[in-house]
Order: sequence, then structure tokens, then C-alpha cells
Amino acid sequence: MNFELTEDQQLIWQTARDFANKEIEPIAAELDKEARWPTEIVNRMAELGFMGMAIPTEYGGSGLDNVCYALVVEEVSRACASCGVIMSVNNSLFCDPVNKFGTDWQKKEILAPTARGEILGAYGLTEPASGSDAQTMKTVAERQGDGSYVLNGSKNFITVGPHAEHVIVFAITGEDNGKKRHTALIVQKDFDGYEVAPHDEKMGIKAAHSSTIFFENVKVPKEYVLGEHGQGFKIAMNTLDGGRIGIAAQALGIAKAAIDKAIVYANERHS
Ligand SMILES: Cc1cc2nc3c(=O)[nH]c(=O)nc-3n(C[C@H](O)[C@H](O)[C@H](O)COP(=O)(O)OP(=O)(O)OC[C@H]3O[C@@H](n4cnc5c(N)ncnc54)[C@H](O)[C@@H]3O)c2cc1C
Repeated sequence: MNFELTEDQQLIWQTARDFANKEIEPIAAELDKEARWPTEIVNRMAELGFMGMAIPTEYGGSGLDNVCYALVVEEVSRACASCGVIMSVNNSLFCDPVNKFGTDWQKKEILAPTARGEILGAYGLTEPASGSDAQTMKTVAERQGDGSYVLNGSKNFITVGPHAEHVIVFAITGEDNGKKRHTALIVQKDFDGYEVAPHDEKMGIKAAHSSTIFFENVKVPKEYVLGEHGQGFKIAMNTLDGGRIGIAAQALGIAKAAIDKAIVYANERHS
């Protein structure tokens, strides 16, 4: 197997490294200390095509591969872990499942502006009483005669939640042989009954705001169903599988930054 980077991959990597060093690293400590949402960095990541890297160009993405994506997440995370998470959520947890499971309309109307980074997407699986075992979720969506759903419940720890235009929400939509069935819904922040709590106070990656989102009788039109009715759990798990690439790249970038700083400090310190 050839692990050499192609010329394109090297070019993207260099672009990301320069951007991270010159524009992100100088403000990273301030972002974390102040828990400030990095609007200017998000806008620059959009300009550079980093918000929908592996999405086809016809749907607003950069049409690149996952190696490029991982290299960029690694560099961005090396400079600022919060910025790495923001980028990773938009790419892996929102754009990727809409690209894989979305209708043509969803790809044109919802995916394209999100992959261009003009608006942001989030992923809503976790609930106050449902974490690792996501099957225990309580959020429900009742299918109506016209194919729309009425959504009730809440999701928490939703990264980018306070800044997202839309979130993929996983909800129980029925039962089959005593087993709960789930459906994935793309829920827009301007739907009636959608309410975002103030962002969480976190111990780290503080600039990557996360929050709880409440849904009270939110009517979700049928055009916003992602994938098939009853297939939501598969979509949730498949999305998390893809998300591991971003998580691994973030961890690598953060580890690199830690060792680089430790070496500088160890060489400076006289005891
Ligand atoms: C930085 C960050 C960003 C996040 N962003 C999002 C997001 O955008 N969208 C979203 O939906 N969620 C998000 N989450 C939530 C995340 O998915 C959950 O934290 C995760 O699913 C774990 O759930 P929990 O925190 O409730 O922990 P729990 O499930 O309560 O687990 C607590 C501990 O118990 C252990 N444990 C759990 N079950 C078992 C078992 N059966 N046997 C043995 N040990 C067990 C776990 O390994 C863990 O150590 C985010 C979390 C973090 C930390």
C-alpha cells in the first residue's frame, strides 16, 4: 500500500498548515479563555473550502478525499481544538449523512449552502438520559397523514447547536416486534417549537459552543426526512463511523501541539 501523499494532498496540507499557523494559532488561547465563538475562523474555513471537503462540488463541497479532510482537521486542531471540532461536525456529522442519504432536493437546498459553510449543520443524538446507549432515547416524532412528523423531546451536548441553521435529529417513530424504530429528521432552527438553550459551560474546547435543543410540537415536513422512515438508527451509527476519521485527526493534531509545546518548554527550562 502506498502511503505517499499526492501533490494535491500535499498542497491542501500546506494551505491548512499556513492558515492554522498564521490565522488560528495567534487567537486560540483567547478563544478558549473567553469561550468566544470564532466567527472569523469559521468564515475563513468556508472560504478555503474546508466546511464540506469530501462533498461533491455540485453540492457545494470541495470534491476532495478523506485523506485531505483528515490532514486539514489535524492542522486546524493542532492550532485550536475548538476550531477542529466545529469543522469536523459540519463535515462529518451533517454534510456526510445528507450527502449519503439525502434526496436530490435536500442536497441542493440544504447540503449545498452548508457544505459551502454559508450556514452550519449539527447532529442531535444524545439526550439528557441517553448517551452511549442511544437506543434509550426518549425523543419521539409522530408521523401524520400527510407524511410530516410532529417532534417532541430534547437533545443535549449538541456541538455547534447555538449557531446551527439545522440539526439532524434522531427520534423514535414507531415499534416493530417490540423494538423501537427511529427516523432521522432535518430540523430547521426557524421551525415553530425549536428552542436552543444558552451554550454549555465546558472544561475545554470552550469556543466550540454546544447546547441543549428543545423540540415542542415541531412540525417537520416530509421533505425533511433524511433517508427512509424507520432507518434513523442505521443512519446515526453510520454517521458516527465516518465521524471517527475527524475525531482521530483532531486527537492527532492536539497531541502534536502538546508535544511541540512540551519540547520547547523542556529546552527553555533551567532547574
Ligand atoms: C466534546 C463533545 C461533543 C459532543 N457533541 C455531540 C453532538 O454534537 N451531538 C450529540 O448527539 N452528542 C454529542 N456529544 C455527546 C456524546 O455523544 C456523549 O457524551 C456520548 O454518547 C456518551 O454519553 P454520555 O456522556 O451520556 O456518557 P454515558 O453513556 O453516561 O457514559 C459514562 C461512562 O460510562 C461508560 N459506560 C456507558 N455504558 C456502559 C456499559 N454498558 N458498560 C460499561 N461502561 C459503560 C462510558 O464508557 C463512560 O465512561 C458530545 C460529547 C462531547 C464530550
